[in-house]
Amino acid sequence: MAIPACNTGTDPVVVAVALGGNLGDVPRTFQQAIARLRRTDNVKVLRCSGNYQTRAIGSQAGADYFNAAIELETTLSPRALLTTLQEIESELGRVRTGHWSPRTLDLDLLSYGSEVIDESDSPHPLSVPHPACWYRRFVLDPWTEIAPEWRHPLLN
Ligand code: AMP
Repeated sequence: MAIPACNTGTDPVVVAVALGGNLGDVPRTFQQAIARLRRTDNVKVLRCSGNYQTRAIGSQAGADYFNAAIELETTLSPRALLTTLQEIESELGRVRTGHWSPRTLDLDLLSYGSEVIDESDSPHPLSVPHPACWYRRFVLDPWTEIAPEWRHPLLN
């Protein structure tokens, strides 16, 4: 079955995306990622948090992280949006070397309106809300700065 590029409704959906990185000039990389999203069809950047500096997790994790969150309005489907985010990660130099390893840019789809998606068994997994979105301080701090009204559809 073909996966629609756009969501099935006609209304744009408000989504949140987390940004993280600890290699290179990360604030500049964040600006480049946001600029790229502004140039993306069917995506409108609504709000951007400030940058938060946080300690890296894991023995091989490297330098401190910068984290931020942005809110977008989009008619792209969740999967099409995830593909776009992964393209932007690659364009901006992300090399996947391992879990918790240093990275120039990590983009996670935190929420897609109030939709709940569990395609964790798929060859290309997608879970929304992001499974770790509700307990990671480095996600919650920037996210609550830009969208304090958002509520987790399962955990409220
Ligand atoms: P990461 O190393 O954090 O970039 O994880 C990327 C992997 O998580 C990819 O295989 C994605 O398919 C998967 N994934 C599942 N749900 C999400 C989501 N909501 N946002 C980003 N990646 C996700």
